[in-house]
Amino acid sequence: MGDASTDGVRVRTRTLGDFRLHALDAGSQKLDGGAMFGVVPKPLWQKRIPADERNRIPLALRCLLVETRDALILIDTGVGNKENERFREIYGIENASRSGHGPTQLEDAIVKAGHSPDDVDIVIDTHLHFDHAGGNTHFDAEGHVKVSFPRAKYIVQQGERDFAHLRNERISASYLPHNFDPVEAAGQYRFVHGDSVVVPGVKVVPTPGHTPYHQSVVLESAGRTACYLADLVPTTAHLPLPWIMGYDVEPLVTLETKRGLLARAKREEWLLIFEHDPEMAWGHIEGDDARPVFVDETSPGEDVP
Ligand SMILES: [Zn+2]
Repeated sequence: MGDASTDGVRVRTRTLGDFRLHALDAGSQKLDGGAMFGVVPKPLWQKRIPADERNRIPLALRCLLVETRDALILIDTGVGNKENERFREIYGIENASRSGHGPTQLEDAIVKAGHSPDDVDIVIDTHLHFDHAGGNTHFDAEGHVKVSFPRAKYIVQQGERDFAHLRNERISASYLPHNFDPVEAAGQYRFVHGDSVVVPGVKVVPTPGHTPYHQSVVLESAGRTACYLADLVPTTAHLPLPWIMGYDVEPLVTLETKRGLLARAKREEWLLIFEHDPEMAWGHIEGDDARPVFVDETSPGEDVP
């Protein structure tokens, strides 16, 4: 494991069997604490993540860059640079490029990890909400929308692609077409149906509930398994089964998806990777079933921006 923190952009690196994993700090956002914790009362959740004066809690935008023998894979792309000041203020978004490598802090982090956006072979979108797929594309200097990873195939579930185009009142604020329509127009999407092997050792698996076709990513190498959970379990505070986001469109489906996946993750000692946890990038579950304990494997000493 290693850390690098120059320019205030955090990249945490570790191995998983023969893979190298880089947890990329692509910025931060703030979302309403009540919406993030659904039916959980504030006196309980605020002990885990305290709210600001507008009841918002700080959340990471943590993407994962995976080096395998076969491909360089980026999982999720943060918020991007296409939203206006008012939008960024409401959601407390801070993701500007600090080193000049590129439209946002995501590109800074990719460079810090030793790669460039042009090196990315595959982008996996867990789903198409703006804080996961916003960096799929960017505004260039003239204000034209460009695909951010020009050589990459982008992978998303066909069902998520179709759901994002329903445009109904409950979901449309989360699905901004400029984050995904230009990728489709460029012919760069590969739409998948259910479990799908991306390259050997990297598989997308449906984890429905947050959205009906949300997917997580399971990584397996040399006997070690990791799972990038995305919005199935956005922070370590969401590990208890009933701690489910109010944003989820099918919360009872989320409940059963979590029950199955977390039981398997504990039994098989999976490394769990958290996209939105403000502090912890990764860890695993130990203890007896009645009292599971989360063990943080985030390396200390580099949390000062
Ligand atoms: Zn989401």
